[in-house]
Amino acid sequence: MTILRTTKTAWGSIVACALVAAGCTSRVEAPVSNAVLFEGARLIIGDERPPIENAAFVVEDGAFAQVGRAGDVQAPGGAARVSLAGKTVMPALVNAHGHLGYRKGASFRIENYTRENLIDHLQRLAYHGVAAFMSLGTERDLGYALRDELRASPQPDMALFLTAGRGLAMPNGGPAPPLRDAPYGVATEAEARAAVRELAAKKIDGYVKIWVDDREGAVKKLTPELYTAAIDEAHALGLRAITHTQDREDVKAILRAGIDGLAHPSWRMGQEVDDELVGLFKERPNVFVLLTLWSTRNQIFGRRPAWIDDPLLRETFTEEDIRLLENPKVPEDAPARWKAGVVPQGMAKLKAAGVRFGLGDDTGATNGAQYFGYGSHLEMASMVEAGLTPAEAITIATRNSAEILKLDRLGTVDAGKSADFIVLDANPLENIHNTRRISAVYLRGVEVDRAALRARWAAGRVTATK
Ligand SMILES: [Zn+2]
Repeated sequence: MTILRTTKTAWGSIVACALVAAGCTSRVEAPVSNAVLFEGARLIIGDERPPIENAAFVVEDGAFAQVGRAGDVQAPGGAARVSLAGKTVMPALVNAHGHLGYRKGASFRIENYTRENLIDHLQRLAYHGVAAFMSLGTERDLGYALRDELRASPQPDMALFLTAGRGLAMPNGGPAPPLRDAPYGVATEAEARAAVRELAAKKIDGYVKIWVDDREGAVKKLTPELYTAAIDEAHALGLRAITHTQDREDVKAILRAGIDGLAHPSWRMGQEVDDELVGLFKERPNVFVLLTLWSTRNQIFGRRPAWIDDPLLRETFTEEDIRLLENPKVPEDAPARWKAGVVPQGMAKLKAAGVRFGLGDDTGATNGAQYFGYGSHLEMASMVEAGLTPAEAITIATRNSAEILKLDRLGTVDAGKSADFIVLDANPLENIHNTRRISAVYLRGVEVDRAALRARWAAGRVTATK
């Protein structure tokens, strides 16, 4: 399905006219249509609506022009047609929390943070059908520059790169190395406010990241005075604030201080969601929680995860990378204990309280590992494992996360939205693991050249093992 790459010249007639200018009238001719009709798939829209069986949709100029049942959709004259009979289409994913740049295969260090590696990560995301990725608080200067460059001139085969810039923590109190020095170290309210103003000047993508964590006593935790000042300054500048806060009582305090979202839940540290916390969320219906269940994969998936033999893993990772997923230290009964434990219980309580969930897999950080793109699919599988339906998990990973990041052109397959979608060989509503049975990915209406990416990664693998 490479048809869109060859039908992109929408203004062919005008170009032709310009080339033979002497023979042209002053009338601007209508452009040749670049419309493509995709028909026959089961379509998962990305929200509460039921799937459309035998759907049809028209993609034109990178956007969905029409969406409906086959027969109801009228393709413009001259439109190319693509049969998707037997396939399932879902919106491309949106990941609201991860960290680009520091990981490269099994290596995890600052020196990996290069333009080439950032681009490689954006391509891995595109390969797996992730349309947009929020790099949450660990950016370096060249990251801002690349973000600006790609925003001005979007490239095919790359996810949209969003950044919160640098986050805020106490001096030398940021995330675990090698990310430790990425945030601003702030010790006074004035410094906290100045850091937020600098982030605003760098035009971060909507969110200021705040770390409130003493790393089990290893570093100083950001104080309520400092994070309250940062949240206040962010709001005054039209930004929102999102936090990494691990302890339940700290979560309560930062909710009271006006935080807009949690980058991951606190209960992964083994603390139950209590009634007071539920009450605080109920009073704040706009506060969202990114479900980062993937970061507990060692407790969930056991010594040798079932998906370790997934062919998709072998398309993008070395055997060495994949071996890291095996963990002989995990107790035999870990998956059963996780399922009966505080994570699914906490999620259920917050769901019952009406809390809005988003997708954040924390890929690229310590617990999120190096599985850019793949991690987001496992995150959806973890949501189902923890008690959500496949349709709920997909909605969280598409519509909800796009809303959280204010990406109003992503998240669902609807007329007027950007044509970012995944074509699957099997139905994920029956089995959430089928989101990884990827046949094709389209971003901004153009098919991602997955074969070329795969070939490049395979070639790199050979070089690396010499
Ligand atoms: Zn993180």
